[in-house]
Amino acid sequence: MTCALCDGTGWKSVDIDGVARVTRCDCVRETSTSRLLADARIPRRYQHCDFGTYVAYNEQLSKALQHARRLADGFPVVERGLFLLGPPGVGKTHLAVAVLRQVVMTRGARAIFYDTRDLLRVIRSTYDPVSRTAEMDVLRPVIEADLLVLDDLGAERTSEWVEETLNLIVNARYSERRVTIFTSNYEDRPDASDPDSLLFRIGLRMRSRLHEMCEFVDLDGADYRELPPNGGVDDLVVLWKMRGKPGRRALPSRSGGQARAQLTERDGKSDPGRGELKWTGGRAGS
Ligand code: ADP
Repeated sequence: MTCALCDGTGWKSVDIDGVARVTRCDCVRETSTSRLLADARIPRRYQHCDFGTYVAYNEQLSKALQHARRLADGFPVVERGLFLLGPPGVGKTHLAVAVLRQVVMTRGARAIFYDTRDLLRVIRSTYDPVSRTAEMDVLRPVIEADLLVLDDLGAERTSEWVEETLNLIVNARYSERRVTIFTSNYEDRPDASDPDSLLFRIGLRMRSRLHEMCEFVDLDGADYRELPPNGGVDDLVVLWKMRGKPGRRALPSRSGGQARAQLTERDGKSDPGRGELKWTGGRAGS
């Protein structure tokens, strides 16, 4: 529909101190913000996420909210991104999307959201042994975005290819001092032999790089998805207490049969690109 203010020209008339002038119409800014938001790839199930809809019912969640707000308010003049850690359903992705939404809306930032496994799948699917352009078409916006949200890091099955690909993205963003928010269900314990530790999932090199790039913030609380439709803060507190002590994580690899079955199913899938794709620039970060 044509804008009633500017009749689609993108310019509107204004009266400044009695002098008629023209200026950019509001619709131009709105259109570019909506385009930026559409380009950000926020999944439908997270479209409602902003700071206003986030419920912080314990100290850790309040602190996480503070960190996220500080990043969004200070953007792009911020030293480091965020690494949000905690069990499933505590709102890590919600907060990451809230930051992303705010920086797009208030700063016109080019931001992009990717679930880590989806990103790797898309990159793999563009594999072309002759031309690398298709891979770069996917990678360029990820590497160059003013803000990248990489959701659920560590959930992907590790392989040399996965490590190389993630290192390439992370190192490129690190060199350009671009802000990244990561989320993960895995705990940041310094035990490389523990399959439930972030270190085991992403390796030493990546972990230390991420500590340089990001503030690590732990979240603990209920799995919000278990909240009944009319439930409130009291119910969340009860659910949180029932969940067990902080540190005891309902991790996918050790949780119920359904999650384990999903993992097994995923692991069993054939994966034509795995191990074949090599980056033009060689091993990233080496
Ligand atoms: P996580 O990333 O920690 O697994 P999500 O952010 O995916 O959790 O949360 C799952 C759902 O629950 C989302 O729809 C999210 O909006 C909602 N949610 C989780 N925690 C909160 C919270 N503290 N306040 C409001 N909504 C929440």
